[in-house]
Amino acid sequence: MSSPTSSAFICLNCQGALKLDPSLVNRKHDRESNSRKSPSETEIAESLSGQSRNLLRLICDAEVPSDAPICKECSEALLSGMDSQLKSLEEECVAHLQLIEDLKKQFSDANISAHQQTLYDLQRQDKDMESQLAALLREEKEVDDEIINKRNRLENIQEEEKKLWADFRDNHSEILKTDEEMKSIEAQIRYADAQHSRLAALNALDLCFHIWVDMDTPAIAEINGFRLGRLPDRLVDWTEINAAWGQCVLLLEVLMERMGFKQDTYILVAMGSHSSIKVKKHTGEITICPLHGSGSWNPFGNNNVDSGIVAFLQCLEILQTALRAADPKFEPAYAIRKDRLVQNGMEFSVKMMLNGEERWTKAMKLLLSNLKLAVARVSALRTPS
Ligand SMILES: [Zn+2]
Repeated sequence: MSSPTSSAFICLNCQGALKLDPSLVNRKHDRESNSRKSPSETEIAESLSGQSRNLLRLICDAEVPSDAPICKECSEALLSGMDSQLKSLEEECVAHLQLIEDLKKQFSDANISAHQQTLYDLQRQDKDMESQLAALLREEKEVDDEIINKRNRLENIQEEEKKLWADFRDNHSEILKTDEEMKSIEAQIRYADAQHSRLAALNALDLCFHIWVDMDTPAIAEINGFRLGRLPDRLVDWTEINAAWGQCVLLLEVLMERMGFKQDTYILVAMGSHSSIKVKKHTGEITICPLHGSGSWNPFGNNNVDSGIVAFLQCLEILQTALRAADPKFEPAYAIRKDRLVQNGMEFSVKMMLNGEERWTKAMKLLLSNLKLAVARVSALRTPS
């Protein structure tokens, strides 16, 4: 460190060389020897090289004049500046005091305690609002979570919905297909129905068992081409008569079955030219009454065949009774009275024994007429309306 000389000092403000009284320098030297260091020349140089704002602090901190050397002119200028600043501050202070007084006057009637209470209330409200805010934030988080859950659920539901729509489309096309098939089946049913009606109107029984009777001529009645009768000029043999009875028994059996009529007294045994009727008596005994004959025509007929013919007539009467029960308007063409058929009050026995060929043939015509009428009636009852 250089020794302190009067030429080492410069004014902190204008940087002019200073001449200090040696006593001041010595005082400084003494201070340095037993106390802290004063600002070095470097520090002063720093303050001069642009740090002039520290000028006042340096002067205030200085314990001896040499710590903050300043020339007389600068000192006077500084003092003058400080005086004016002080004056300005004092004026400012007065203005502030005046303002305080004015404010006091202006708010002299202010209710401080009420304002404090209001402040307290507001602070309490503030706390409440904060806790409410916290609660709302918690609630918001819960709502957010719920929204996320619901959104996930919605996505799942939408997936499910897509699947269901696809199923719906599949089912719909299936329905359309089924509908087409149904329409086709309905058309088939209508066609079959029309066919059925047409066939029902045909009267299959009448076609299968064609009965031909001509009441105005002495011609012998026929069933499916087999004559049932015998006249002196038309000698029908047993073979044809037996075949005709076979057709009659079969037809009567079919008619009974079609009517759903059940009885156990007569059992019709349709066996072509060897047909017969079994008659069950109330004792349980069964008698076989044949409807086929053979042998001589002299005398006329055959006692065994007569029992079959009478049994047949009784069966026909039972069928006619059943038909009348089903349709009260039904009336057989010729009434049956025991073993006879009545035409215009005249009775014709169906038995051959002790009978004449013409009368027996006539009786067969009446019998086949009744049978033909029964066929028509049974068919009419079964035809769909
Ligand atoms: Zn100066």
